[in-house]
Amino acid sequence: MGLIGGLWRYLLIGLAVFILYRVLKRWLAGPPAPGQGAGPAKGAPREVVDLMVQDPQCGVYLPQHEALKVTARGQERYFCSEACRDAYLAGGQENNKQGPQG
Ligand SMILES: [Zn+2]
Repeated sequence: MGLIGGLWRYLLIGLAVFILYRVLKRWLAGPPAPGQGAGPAKGAPREVVDLMVQDPQCGVYLPQHEALKVTARGQERYFCSEACRDAYLAGGQENNKQGPQG
């Protein structure tokens, strides 16, 4: 009766193949090179998400860090240029300014 022994053999062969597969897969992925070569970045890469803000004057969207931040009437506004900022601040003095409709 070599039935049980045969099953164990298959199990051991399967286990060995599985381990070999894991090892080969790890080798193919590339061994870790300690202190060799210049990596692109050390440590965890910082993910800086640019918050897009809209210029209320011209309506263009731009990254927040590139925009001109102006606090007007307690509200933060972002502008693409000083011209837009000045125009907005100059025009913001008048309230409820309605353009010609029609
Ligand atoms: Zn603008």
